[in-house]
Amino acid sequence: MDGISLNLILTYKCNYECDHCISNCSPSREETMKIYQAKEYIDKVVSTTNVNQIGYTGGEPFLYYEMLKELIGYSYNEYGIAGGVVTNCFWAKSEKEADHKLEELYNNGLRSIVVSCDSYHLKYGSIKPIEYVVHKSLDLGLTICINTVVTKDVSISKNDIPRLLKLTDDDMENGIIIKEIGLLRLGRTLTHIPEDCLIETEDEMYFNGACPFVLKIPTITPRGSVYSCCCFGDDEVNPTELIGYGGNVNHDSIENILTNMEGNLLFNIFKYKGPYSLLKTIKERRSDIEIRGKYLSNCDICVELYHNPQVKEELKKLLREMAYQNL
Ligand code: SF4
Ligand code: SF4
Repeated sequence: MDGISLNLILTYKCNYECDHCISNCSPSREETMKIYQAKEYIDKVVSTTNVNQIGYTGGEPFLYYEMLKELIGYSYNEYGIAGGVVTNCFWAKSEKEADHKLEELYNNGLRSIVVSCDSYHLKYGSIKPIEYVVHKSLDLGLTICINTVVTKDVSISKNDIPRLLKLTDDDMENGIIIKEIGLLRLGRTLTHIPEDCLIETEDEMYFNGACPFVLKIPTITPRGSVYSCCCFGDDEVNPTELIGYGGNVNHDSIENILTNMEGNLLFNIFKYKGPYSLLKTIKERRSDIEIRGKYLSNCDICVELYHNPQVKEELKKLLREMAYQNL
């Protein structure tokens, strides 16, 4: 595997309980990675793979700030690998606190940050902490990505972010990325977001194409499940049935799991042709199977492939035939 960004889900605990959360994170979740486990994963992955960055996500990783700080310092000092973090920014109660924590993390090796700023997250927090975090991150020269989740009924879109966060044209030219992202039919989205609020389309150009993320951001959960990307949902129930499942570190070595994932036919089709290439073939072979036909994104095609039982069955047959033809 070449040039990956290893993604460690440090915890499923979150102080928010957003309606759209694909991982069902909430204050009542307790699953959290132990520091020794995280270090072991880092050691093993780094010894066999070219790792560009280690991302620490959740849940809300700042709920375990000391662990986060130690792990970022560990991978940077031991291996020279920069850290990245995804956060809802709740912890930046004041400018001083944002400055203090981000300076500490920067000194330990943090180089990129992803913050969430949208109508869903702002039901739980206010805009000020996000503003403090983004401005301090700019001062430190971190790579900054602001994720804005949109559905038909939200009041905040990508164009509102510079005004809300008091970002000037110069700030924007300093490389802040603002990404408008749709939802995924996983986790709480399935039960908390009305279907008619989802922005979906039949137009293939929005979901037909190779996936740039699969195998590039292998993700390990607190339970030790390993996935080929970060869009699989919540591994509390049926972890092996989720998108991109590659194995579990409690049953196999992380090195073996990553090697097998790299050679996995399905993941390679996602990588080079995209998940829609498979759904299209399934549609041609089995016009009797009911599929949604309208999708939110590439990832939503993966949801159809993995979570529509008839599609999944046909996918298994198709992959067996493809593997046989390649023998
Ligand atoms: S979407 Fe993010 S902030 Fe919201 S509950 Fe999930 S992990 Fe927490
Ligand atoms: S398209 Fe599929 S494999 Fe790629 S990131 Fe989305 S869910 Fe993962």
